[in-house]
Amino acid sequence: MTETASDRPTAADCLCCGTQLTGLFCAACGQRAGPQRLELRTLLTHFVSAFTNFEGPLLRTSLGLLVRPHIVVGDYLRGRRIVYTNPVQWAILTSGTSALIGHVLGRVGPVQIKVDGSTPEWLRRVIEQLGSNSSPLYVLVLLPGLAVAMRIAFGRRGGTIPEHLVVVLYGYGIGALLQLVWAGAVAWFGAPPGPAGLLPMVFTAWGAVGAQPTRSKVASVLRTLLAHCLWALLLLALGLVVFGICWLLGLIG
Ligand SMILES: [Zn+2]
Repeated sequence: MTETASDRPTAADCLCCGTQLTGLFCAACGQRAGPQRLELRTLLTHFVSAFTNFEGPLLRTSLGLLVRPHIVVGDYLRGRRIVYTNPVQWAILTSGTSALIGHVLGRVGPVQIKVDGSTPEWLRRVIEQLGSNSSPLYVLVLLPGLAVAMRIAFGRRGGTIPEHLVVVLYGYGIGALLQLVWAGAVAWFGAPPGPAGLLPMVFTAWGAVGAQPTRSKVASVLRTLLAHCLWALLLLALGLVVFGICWLLGLIG
């Protein structure tokens, strides 16, 4: 197939938004300059890059949060963003995966676990561990509250609520994944179940170290712990309000 002159872009304007092109990519919308006629090769390239563009940042975010979350958080907050998975996307993906695996293995709700007598002992232990994995989707809904608590604990110079939310979403996301791994370790190797609950907080504190370059590491960790105490009080107060409303409406005897 020979390419004629009419197939090539004649005007130096972006075919997507009309901005005048100054390079290989449009400065306004980011579309690559190219021929108007769609070719199979272009279509396939788009298809492949839709996956690689997703996988590259996802792999970098997962591994980065695992071994050096302070770098990932610091990078993201200081503007190096496109190389990482968006924190909201990351938190939904990880907590969703965690909840889905728990669900597939027979978990019905955050408390109820569907296990009958015919379930093998080893499988029952796995399901119980996954079931006790503090329902990540519920935590995700409550995380903005933690970001508010972080804002209070770190003070005015510590950053905005959205900035703290980035720290929290990355920390709780990797925490949810590691809790799954830990649940497996508990079931198969008899690891103690207790520390798993602390994983999201540990990684949030570690990320906060990267978000607070002017503070000492100890100060960032202590303020993250303080934020978790405030968060617990916030949730307790919220629970009491909901309970009070239910009581006033006569829903609780
Ligand atoms: Zn454009």
